Amino acid sequence: TDIQLNGHTVPNGASAHASTDNAASFERVQIINDEKQFTPELTKQVERWGLQNAGFDYDIVAVFGSQSTGKSTLLNRLFGTNFDVMDETRRQQTTKGIWMCRGKGMNVMVMDVEGTDGRERGEDQDFERKSALFSLASSEVLIVNLWEHQVGLYQGANMGLLKTVFEVNLGLFGKKTADGRNQRTLLLFVIRDHIGTTPLANLQATLSADMEKIWDSLSKPPELQDRRLSDYFDLSFAALPHKILAADKFESDVQELRKRFVDKSRDDYVFKPAYHKRIPADGVAFYMEGIWEQVQTNKDLDLPTQQELLAQFRCDEISAVALSEFNEQAKSQKRPVEAGRVVEGLGAMMRSWRTTALERYDRDASRYHPGVYKRKRADLVGVLDSTLSPLFLGQLKNLHKACLVQFKTDMHEGMRGENYNFAEIVAAARERCEAAFDAGAREAVPAEGEEAAQWTFDDEFTLLREEMSSVADQCRRDETKKMVNVIERNFKKQISEPVEVHLSKSAPDMWDKVLVTFRATLGKAESAYLAKAKSFNCTEAENATALSTLRKRAWMALRAKIDEQTADQSFLAKLRTYFEERFRYDEKGVPRVWTPSDDIDGAFQKARDETLELVPLYSKIAPTDESLAWTLPAEPVDALASSEEEFDFAASLTVFSETKALDLVARFRKDADAFYVEAKRSTVSSVAQ
Ligand code: GDP
Ligand code: MG
Repeated sequence: TDIQLNGHTVPNGASAHASTDNAASFERVQIINDEKQFTPELTKQVERWGLQNAGFDYDIVAVFGSQSTGKSTLLNRLFGTNFDVMDETRRQQTTKGIWMCRGKGMNVMVMDVEGTDGRERGEDQDFERKSALFSLASSEVLIVNLWEHQVGLYQGANMGLLKTVFEVNLGLFGKKTADGRNQRTLLLFVIRDHIGTTPLANLQATLSADMEKIWDSLSKPPELQDRRLSDYFDLSFAALPHKILAADKFESDVQELRKRFVDKSRDDYVFKPAYHKRIPADGVAFYMEGIWEQVQTNKDLDLPTQQELLAQFRCDEISAVALSEFNEQAKSQKRPVEAGRVVEGLGAMMRSWRTTALERYDRDASRYHPGVYKRKRADLVGVLDSTLSPLFLGQLKNLHKACLVQFKTDMHEGMRGENYNFAEIVAAARERCEAAFDAGAREAVPAEGEEAAQWTFDDEFTLLREEMSSVADQCRRDETKKMVNVIERNFKKQISEPVEVHLSKSAPDMWDKVLVTFRATLGKAESAYLAKAKSFNCTEAENATALSTLRKRAWMALRAKIDEQTADQSFLAKLRTYFEERFRYDEKGVPRVWTPSDDIDGAFQKARDETLELVPLYSKIAPTDESLAWTLPAEPVDALASSEEEFDFAASLTVFSETKALDLVARFRKDADAFYVEAKRSTVSSVAQ
């Protein structure tokens, strides 16, 4: 099965798509066709030849010379290629444009250039110049193929060609390359049909002299006037006998010449590093195409610009390849992070994606123009990092949330028991939370080494600390509130009975006793609070607020108790009892039986007046001992209550308002009057009996 390539049949044992080296390495490609168009297939072909990853480890050789001087024959022998050879019987030109093959078993791209004797054929010399430019811009070695009898024919076609080559070279390489070297090329003259009567040394001398003459005759730009041929070219020579007349010798001499292309240890090895055009193998196709385009449009061929363009193109391509894999990887974790998950090992993943992408880029792109390589690398880093940044920030955010949840849990767990130390619980929970966040955030940093420093999480850490504080504060406030409530309840219980007892004894020092009890009980409540509050790390202000709240609530509790004890019905009952004790019983507690001689009116008035004295006594909380006058803080605030009601301490001392007192007096009087009438009646009835 033959292979069709660019419309040409390549005799080959294997299919074009066979993956074996042998099959593809035989393929040839017409890189520039009869219409002077550059093939779009070269990139693929370089891949098929297995050379795209060769970096700089490959060479390019091109051949020049008149038509039908056995160029293709020579190349095929030297490199094991299969360029078309003119059919002996038909004698017609076979090669058109420029063809390329891979040297068999070697990393060499071989270019077979159309017979460049347009002069003789009367055709345009345009292609001659263009192919010279093109070959020089890419090849390390130019084989100049000529018959022995052409040597010394200064006006010959080859000389015209060489003049073109030199001129073109000055234009191309007159200036130094970006890295400061002079771009050198080897001209290897192969003298064909060497009979042997004139030794090679003589032919060599003649050719060298001719070259110098041609060089001198060039019109050079002013700044390059004093440049010498040897500044740009090395000349080398070989002779081959007649292929048919000395067939054996021809074959063995060709094999000998081949060694100069293969054996790196030889002094006359032709592919010296100085000749390499430093185009990475994966960029050769694009580079050549660019060169050809410039040549075709007759633009000034500025190699540094071409190399930079090549670098831009290739670095972009390489970057895109690295980026597409990276994007796939990054995409895989986008969802979980957005969903709020803390992705285990995300940092390690991100570092690996990032490093892999950059390594991939560096491996292929670092061979190109250093400035472009660096610039595009910075671009790539920018894109990578802008993709990683939301993942990093998302992970931090999720980590923040998770850590805070853990912090709250730890706090609540710690406060489950009775005798916990609040400050210790907060400290332990905080330490654990900070350690977890710090470890998680460090892990999440997507870059390594020096670059890691750009990925900070200080702000997030500060925020977390602030939120922990506010959670702890809230907890403390809640706990304090609960504690104050408990103490308040206890206070109410403790004060209830003693106050009842004191208020039931309507003595002048009644309020003194109530207040003494109140003070003692409140004192106990305050110490209970302070003992508990110690572990809460409460601030002075918080303690002041809590105590003030406690005092106010205690006072309100007392007032409630007093109100309960002095409610209308119970207070009126108290008055009645008090009155009865004085009116219906004598000093010894014996019930009185009224006789007409008794001074009912006097007794009634005395008992009534004594009883009425109770009203002012109960009307106002007024101890006989001035020092007991209880004073609350100037502005008592119940900071722990949700809403703040008005509170007027002075007003709260009043138990009965004046109107209330008058009302109570009036109601009592009615009751008392009833007793009086009853007493009167009882004397009447006793008289009647
Ligand atoms: P090209 O046009 O320069 O590529 O030449 P070809 O390789 O196609 O060969 C042209 C003709 O010259 C063919 O008929 C070859 O057989 C013949 N030829 C090849 N090598 C030699 C040689 O060394 N000496 C002579 N006299 N003829 C050769
Ligand atoms: Mg040929």
